[in-house]
Amino acid sequence: AISALTLPLNNGFAALPPAFYTRLMPTPLPAPYFVAASAPAASLVGLDPARLAEPDFVDLLSGNAVAAHSQPLAAVYSGHQFGVWAGQLGDGRAILLGDIATENGPMELQLKGAGATPYSRMGDGRAVLRSSIREFLCSEAMAALAIPTSRALAIMGSHQGIMRETVETAAVVTRMAPSFVRFGSFEHWFSRKQPEQLKILADYVIDNFYAGLRAQDNPYQALLAEVCRRTAHMIAHWQAVGFMHGVMNTDNMSILGLTLDYGPFGFMEAFDAEHICNHTDSQGRYSYANQPQVGHWNCYALGQALLPLIGEVPLAQAALDSYEPAFAAKMNELLRAKLGLRTEQDADTQLFDAMFAVMQANHVDFTNFFRALGNLQVGAPEHDTGLRDMFIDRPAFDGWAAQYRARLLLEHSDDLPRKLAMDQVNPKYVLRNYLAQVAIDQAQQQDYTEVARLLDVLQKPFDEQPEHQHYAALPPDWASHLEVSCSS
Ligand code: AMP
Ligand code: MG
Ligand code: MG
Repeated sequence: AISALTLPLNNGFAALPPAFYTRLMPTPLPAPYFVAASAPAASLVGLDPARLAEPDFVDLLSGNAVAAHSQPLAAVYSGHQFGVWAGQLGDGRAILLGDIATENGPMELQLKGAGATPYSRMGDGRAVLRSSIREFLCSEAMAALAIPTSRALAIMGSHQGIMRETVETAAVVTRMAPSFVRFGSFEHWFSRKQPEQLKILADYVIDNFYAGLRAQDNPYQALLAEVCRRTAHMIAHWQAVGFMHGVMNTDNMSILGLTLDYGPFGFMEAFDAEHICNHTDSQGRYSYANQPQVGHWNCYALGQALLPLIGEVPLAQAALDSYEPAFAAKMNELLRAKLGLRTEQDADTQLFDAMFAVMQANHVDFTNFFRALGNLQVGAPEHDTGLRDMFIDRPAFDGWAAQYRARLLLEHSDDLPRKLAMDQVNPKYVLRNYLAQVAIDQAQQQDYTEVARLLDVLQKPFDEQPEHQHYAALPPDWASHLEVSCSS
């Protein structure tokens, strides 16, 4: 049996020159204990989830022990925060342990909250249990929704006090991704006018993660185009489930097009396109409606940084111009699937716009609306009661439903197969803020059972799970005052 200390950790990233990172050991977490583990994440790297609760893994995944031959490091990057150049940032509290070979290539293991690094600036290098649970649950929930994301393997906690708005306790979450390189990793070398380093990083990313692009005329332009496409697709997936990232700074944008750095994220409940999930984002730069545009803006920042390698502005521009059509095509594909449409019609965008308008006017619950829409029967408007009751303005719903019915008739849609298909794409369960808060409140009382139970529900978001029906309930009154900020 494999022990934590003999875990075969390589560190492909450590093969880059020293300027890209600082080697350092995690800071031990006082008296660490097991909080939670994700079985599907563990199996991705060939680990038995039950083993993660044993002392050797608790030590490894809290930063109290390091595996033999491992070369832990913190990476440097820079970035634009809220549209403003922020200069050097870097892994201020994340430490890369190394990567494990899997059948789908290397998977890096990173400890988040494992102590201060040379990039910590004013921070303490720690993460609190509250934000660690949020990141852990949401990473795994997004993966179960088939949305590109970094993964979360486990959480280890400690009674060590951490100062935020109040005193909280510390935790370390182990994240996994093939790479944690960010747009800001490229912006870093561009801003320092070091094109040699820029090239080393781009070549590393291409050779390890985009090998197919090497044969292109201009691999750096191809990289930009491919990252634009993946980013556009990722954000279309976010929009389709009502996910709001909350801090789409360029240092939080993955070069692999993965959802990265879960902080003040949220899932849309009462629909409002202008909703801002991050209490700190007073201008609403990262509102639901703005996410697609911001994704494009972030790609521009990457394009600017890659320009010395790409060579000519029109080539970079051409790559960037692929973002909008890629987003629109994916968004329309996902919306057609959400509405159970098998064919594509010119008027579909109008149908979608009319739907969002009536959802907006009535502030219907995003997740529950789409899930319930699967029950609509083309020939029986009299059975729409449950759906209609989600709307204050019922005639407005009836008006849209008539359009939708006409559209379904156009493709001779059958109710039952359509419902089955819609249930595969419209989740019944998402990580509502209040659900996370209930699990956090109990965990802060040393009861971790709700974290595990909620994780279990969120790992099967499309299943009915009638015994867990209450996890699909609208937020209770107490939750209307919940605010999430960057504090983590
Ligand atoms: P974020 O907004 O969470 O993406 O973080 C922006 C930057 O601040 C990154 O470089 C983080 O590593 C760093 N950072 C955030 N929180 C802390 C902390 N508690 N200690 C050290 N660095 C931090
Ligand atoms: Mg970050
Ligand atoms: Mg963060």
